[in-house]
Amino acid sequence: MQQDAGYWNPEFELLDRAEIAGLQLQRLKETLERCSRSPFYREWFRNAGFDPASLTSLDDIRRLPFMDKATLRGDDPTRFLTVGLEDIVRMHSSSGTTGQATVIFHTAGDINTWSNMVARCMYMAGVRRSDVFQNMMGYGLFTGGLGLHYAAERIGAMVIPAGSGNSKRQIQLMQEFNTTVIHIIPSYALYLLEVFKEMGVDPKKDTQLRIAVLGAEPHTEGLRSRVQEAYGLKAFNCYGLSEMSGPGVAFECPEKQGLHVWEDYYLLEVLDPASLEPVEEGKEGELVFTSLCREGMPLLRYRTHDLASTYIGDCACGRCHRRISRIKGRSDDMFIIKGVNIFPMQVEKILLGALGVGSNYQIILDTIESKDEMRVLVEVAGELWHGEVRELNRLRARIAEELRQEILISPIIELVEPGFLPQTESKAVRVMDNRDQARGD
Ligand code: ADP
Ligand code: ZN
Repeated sequence: MQQDAGYWNPEFELLDRAEIAGLQLQRLKETLERCSRSPFYREWFRNAGFDPASLTSLDDIRRLPFMDKATLRGDDPTRFLTVGLEDIVRMHSSSGTTGQATVIFHTAGDINTWSNMVARCMYMAGVRRSDVFQNMMGYGLFTGGLGLHYAAERIGAMVIPAGSGNSKRQIQLMQEFNTTVIHIIPSYALYLLEVFKEMGVDPKKDTQLRIAVLGAEPHTEGLRSRVQEAYGLKAFNCYGLSEMSGPGVAFECPEKQGLHVWEDYYLLEVLDPASLEPVEEGKEGELVFTSLCREGMPLLRYRTHDLASTYIGDCACGRCHRRISRIKGRSDDMFIIKGVNIFPMQVEKILLGALGVGSNYQIILDTIESKDEMRVLVEVAGELWHGEVRELNRLRARIAEELRQEILISPIIELVEPGFLPQTESKAVRVMDNRDQARGD
């Protein structure tokens, strides 16, 4: 077990498997009871021929139908409420990455539970009262801002609610107020390195940064290593989704062997996305969550479309909450080209592993003379761009070869100068699919 265990809720974090299952069953029954108060869920149960009182085991949840973004997207999101509107104190919405944003309502109790859950995550990463926490995520409807804000205050850290963007100001704030912990979108963390360079500030030497929480979008181990190395800090992967309150649903412990899903708050199923049957423990599948503590708007068997695998066995940190791998992507991130299924993270893995690659890349899919064409635009590091053409050619050839081995086809590689690609402060758009029949599945 690690030396500074850093348990925020030891009474829940250290439950053994049997205790977790017992608590989950009790909380699932309470959740179903709450749901039975809402006309929507009463009908949902009736249509499924499901009597909530008949649930006697966790497996019984499999008798219920699934929900997903499409379920939530219809009219009037208040129909999912299991309390009166007067009991709701806040709403949030998803980012709208894949279409119309979904809306989630919270009671005061829900905000309290969520804040505690995220405080647990941050404490596990080593955040303490003495820290200065600069939250570089968008404040507002997006859950990344307020989610960690409340948690850091609960721990007693000083929060700088910087919000997203304003890169130079971010760096000034870090220096002026001795920021030690940041919460940042991974693609933006890479981009910000360019701004550090421009300003002549070395994040490793000229700041007090020691912890980064990276979340909200898929990223590779290679990206994490780059961030850790360049900033001189420890980076932790934070997974969540607004439909399950927001960030903090799963988080890495210092062992960094997967992300612990907080199973006292969520029931996790890992299912084959085609058959919707459970996959074997350790195998990859789609994450499906049932909220166990949400009062205002519980969601049952919510399909995330996020793909990950579970870890087998217990973690050396002492927590028995199940662990998931880094998210490979959403099933809808996958594109098919020349009959091959490709995830953007496969491309990122190769690019960020190559020395000389800069901070941004984009995959562009087109139809040229009725054929699919894949181009990968890769920003190269400044020194290389201004160096010898021979070195650029060498880098292009290396990327081409490694990509061919990874994805089995040979895309066109275009090396571009630093800053060439559009940079967003929110989730990066890695794939531009301009094909006549986009997403040919
Ligand atoms: P949207 O679903 O519209 O993007 P959210 O802001 O609720 O809105 O984002 C949640 C989604 O973001 C997750 O379902 C997942 O696809 C992605 N995500 C969040 N955190 C991570 C992470 N650490 N790694 C990979 N993907 C993540
Ligand atoms: Zn652990």
